[in-house]
Amino acid sequence: MILIVDDKKENILSLESLLALHSFPVDTALSGEQALKKILKNNYALIILDVQMPGMDGFEVAETISGYSKVKDVPIIFLSAANTDKKFIAKGYSSGAIDYITKPIDPDILLLKVNTLYKLYEQKRKVNEMQVKLQSEVEFRKKAQYETNEKANELKSILESIPQIAFTTAKNGELEYHNSQWLNYTNGDSKHLLTHPDDPSLNEELKKMAARKQPLEMEIRLRKKTDEKYRYYLLRVLPVKENGSVIKWVGSFTEIEEQKQAIKRKDEFISMASHELKTPLTSIQGYIQLLERMVNDESLRPYIDRTIVQIKKLDTLVNDLLDISKIESGKLKLNMKNFNFGKMLEDTTAMMQETFPDHRIEHSGNANVIVYGDEGRLEQVIINFLSNAIKYAPSSTLIRIETKIEENDLLVKVIDSGVGIPKEELSHVFEKFYRTEDSSKRFQGLGIGLYICADILSRHDCRYGVESDPGKGSTFYFNIPL
Ligand code: ADP
Repeated sequence: MILIVDDKKENILSLESLLALHSFPVDTALSGEQALKKILKNNYALIILDVQMPGMDGFEVAETISGYSKVKDVPIIFLSAANTDKKFIAKGYSSGAIDYITKPIDPDILLLKVNTLYKLYEQKRKVNEMQVKLQSEVEFRKKAQYETNEKANELKSILESIPQIAFTTAKNGELEYHNSQWLNYTNGDSKHLLTHPDDPSLNEELKKMAARKQPLEMEIRLRKKTDEKYRYYLLRVLPVKENGSVIKWVGSFTEIEEQKQAIKRKDEFISMASHELKTPLTSIQGYIQLLERMVNDESLRPYIDRTIVQIKKLDTLVNDLLDISKIESGKLKLNMKNFNFGKMLEDTTAMMQETFPDHRIEHSGNANVIVYGDEGRLEQVIINFLSNAIKYAPSSTLIRIETKIEENDLLVKVIDSGVGIPKEELSHVFEKFYRTEDSSKRFQGLGIGLYICADILSRHDCRYGVESDPGKGSTFYFNIPL
């Protein structure tokens, strides 16, 4: 808005109508004093100020407002009677934009000057606004930076206080900070830990993790600079997120050498014990078969038959334990050949049906297809699924096998109506030694059958899994590629 200050009403009117004609919003004051009041109250883009006024004249008004920071930059056009007033004008109002027009007023010149000063003021106002915005942005960033530094310092103190080796990386996986524990595992070059030459490169793994944007967990061997031997550590790296995106990673190494040694001793024990058990068991099997053929007394036959069944159970157990050791040492060999899956399934089902006459095993669907795999091991998987279905469904007698030849694979399902598996335990049943809480109390077992099945199936590139409705039954399945 433009403020016109003149003691003569007729002058104001003519200026007002001229400016209104060019769409400038206008306000008026009839004296210097009135003008000052209005200037302090409202925001003006330009003041047109008559120099000669009774009471407070134009110069005095200009001089007064030059002392107010809010209005000192508002441009002024002085209306003066003579050219000689110019030097007073400059003196009175040095900080803002000024101009003058001598009376009688030439409307074109006035408009030209109003336009220029109005624009100038608008531009200045915008620049000021921008400056204020920038200033607050700078303040905001400074504060955020301060808070980030505070958080980083807090994190560093925590990482320094723990006994583990700890570090942080930038979001691209590049090492940023490590605690003092870290230095015990380096030789001069603090960026590189002394990792075992056969283990993957730590820096590479961190970069891959950052690219994947997934937490990292791996076992890695490290050596203290004062030690000769490498020891096992569990490396865990988790993302630190802000507004949902990763800003850095925090990692730690925890020594697990003791656990590794205990697991090794347990594996060695299982391997040794199963081998030790296997030799006498094989002899017992041989002798009982001999006995079976030699015994003529029919009254003894049921006892021999029951002994054979128990020996078979023991044999399966010992074989499972042997398989576990073979899997651990990478020695479970597969004898891969083409074979007819349907034929194998039929024979296996018949054999199981004979062993468990109280249950009914029904097969539906097509499985008559040539598969490339280890026939004996896949048969072992089916026997395992079926024995579990029988064991964990004590009050139902029907076990169903469903097979389906799909475009690129053969789907095999073993369905029971047994106790089922709680949802939260489903993902664990293929783990080594895992037994569900309920079944470990009610049923006998070691929790290794499904672990062996999982190893065999994954080595055949099969997808496998289980679906279950607790209390209603379970479906164990696998898809074997054709
Ligand atoms: P085991 O039967 O000797 O315990 P497995 O490795 O064969 O070991 O099975 C692991 C666990 O999975 C079992 O302890 C049981 O809790 C669960 N499970 C396996 N099969 C079934 C099934 N058909 N129904 C319900 N639970 C099952």
